[in-house]
Formats: sequence, structure tokens, C-alpha cells
Amino acid sequence: SILLRNADTAMYEAKRLGGSQLCFYKQTLTQEVVDRVALTQELEHALVAKQFVVYYQPQYCCKSGLIKGMEALVRWQHPVKGLVSPAEFIPVAEDSGLITEIDEQVFNIACSQCVEWWRIGLPQFILAVNLSVAELKDGYAEKLLSNLLETQFPIEQLELEITESMVMDSSSREELKKLHELGFKISMDDFGTGHSSLAQLKHLPITKLKIDRSFVKDIPDDANDMVVAQTIIAMGHSLSLKIVAEGVETDAQKDFLIAKGSDFLQGYLLSKPLSAELMADLLKE
Ligand code: C2E
Ligand code: CA
Ligand code: CA
Repeated sequence: SILLRNADTAMYEAKRLGGSQLCFYKQTLTQEVVDRVALTQELEHALVAKQFVVYYQPQYCCKSGLIKGMEALVRWQHPVKGLVSPAEFIPVAEDSGLITEIDEQVFNIACSQCVEWWRIGLPQFILAVNLSVAELKDGYAEKLLSNLLETQFPIEQLELEITESMVMDSSSREELKKLHELGFKISMDDFGTGHSSLAQLKHLPITKLKIDRSFVKDIPDDANDMVVAQTIIAMGHSLSLKIVAEGVETDAQKDFLIAKGSDFLQGYLLSKPLSAELMADLLKE
């Protein structure tokens, strides 16, 4: 029975890695499964105990220098581990399906927070939230809409960040079209890391492209990355898309991206993701 169990563990790992592949059992796999099961249970509890908090990172308009957008980024306020980064729990949340509920909490927290900020007279901006692959399916648009009504958030100020891998099948593209028709803005995140071509982009109802950080981080040392960044900006513009450069950390990167026509900048150079409290201070300035 140990043999069968271990074979099963190896099969689970092969599936987890995307399926259609071979995986040999090794001892560490059992530990990983145990860890994942424990983390899943902790995440279930975190949902009930409302331990997820939202941080906000501004997107600055290159022309005006003003904050025109704001990305909501989840953090887990763990009672023992402190603030846990999404990189440590999003993959497990996606595997277990809990991501849908986590994102719903994030969505409601972020929308209510912005409505409150605007109620006290702080400046307007577009709120961007991240979607996960499991979410873009039939019925999602209706659910999002009802959450929106509950928080009284204006639909035209909401932007959904998707990635290339989320729109590989026609049913998710249908749902995306529905979201667009309802009035949600849609932006393509981590652009350049997936498999979609710019030719495919023009058939998607998106209005913004976010150049992935991997093409920004080695500016001005990597000539290839600079060509890629510049090309994405030029071709994005030719498709009437706005361009956001992500992960801007240095003045050299900022100057290059502005010179090449990027519309918005997001990154540590301008601001790290901030707690709601610190973001309110920044908005008041
Ligand atoms: P992302 O959507 O690409 O978000 C940008 C990530 O880059 C954030 O990491 C942000 O803190 C980080 N970042 C921003 N500026 C810089 C910079 O100048 N330098 C560097 N090195 N990093 C920068 P974070 O917050 O750890 O989030 C990681 C990923 O987790 C996100 O990548 C997104 O894919 C996912 N994620 C975060 N929040 C949510 C959420 O609420 N729902 C879902 N489904 N996914 C989320
Ligand atoms: Ca994002
Ligand atoms: Ca990104």
C-alpha cells in the first residue's frame, strides 16, 4: 500500500505540473504534499478569520506625474508568521480552488476602501484587481457585478488584470467579452512572458498592456530587453493600447521607458505597495 500511495503522489505531482508528463516518486514529494495540505487548511481558516489584507501600488501617468491607477495586491496577515507574500500562498490557493474566495474578499475590501477614500474627497483613479485562471468561467461576470453593486463601486473605474494563459480557450474569451460589454476595463498583465502574439491581442477586448518586469529589470544593461520593451510599446500603441511598465526600480529605467512612450509606470522607484493607511496619506499629499 505504500507503493501505491507513493505512485499516487507521483501522479499527483505530474498533474500539478500540468499533466501529460512522467514523474518519479521521491521522498521530498511526500513532504511537499503534507505541506500543501497543511497550507490549504490554514488558508481555509484564514478566509473565515478574515486574515487577508490588501496593499495598494500606484500607477503613475508619465505625462502628468499623477496617480492614475492603483493595483490591489493581497497579503496574508498571519497571526504567527506576520505578513505573508502572495507568492507563498497563491499557487496553493489556485491548486485547491480557494483562490476564488480569496479574490472575492480582496475585491470587496479594495472596492469598499476606494469608495470610502472618494467619499472623503481623495482623488479618483482606476482600481486594478488581479484575476486567476479558475475565475474566468461562465457566471463570473454576474458574480462580479453583484459584488460591485454591494460595495457601490463605479464599474467604469474598475480594471481586471488577466494574463495570456487565462484566455487560451474560447470559453474564457467569451466570458472576457461579456465582462467588457458590461463595462469592465481589462488589462493584459505580465505581457511578453506567455504565448500570445500581438496578432491575437487585437481580437481581445483589452485596453492596456503591462510590460512584464523581466523586460524592465535589466535596462539599460541588456540591449535585447530594451528592444523588446520598446517594441511592445510601439506595437501596443499601434493597436491603440495604453502601456504600463511594471517593476520600475531605477531612474535609468524610468527615463528610457518614458522616452520610448510608455503611458504609465509602476514600481518600487515610485512607490512600493502600501497598506491602506499609508496609501491614504500618499493620496492626501
Ligand atoms: P503581479 O500581478 O505581476 O504583481 C506585481 C508584483 O510585482 C507584486 O508582487 C509587486 O509587489 C511587485 N513589484 C511591484 N513593483 C516592483 C518593483 O519595482 N520591483 C520588484 N522586484 N517587484 C515589484 P506581489 O504583491 O508579491 O504579488 C505577486 C503576484 O501574486 C502578483 O504578480 C499576482 O500575480 C499575484 N497576486 C497578488 N495579489 C493577488 C490577488 O489579489 N489575486 C490574485 N489572483 N493574484 C494576486
Ligand atoms: Ca497584476
Ligand atoms: Ca505583473
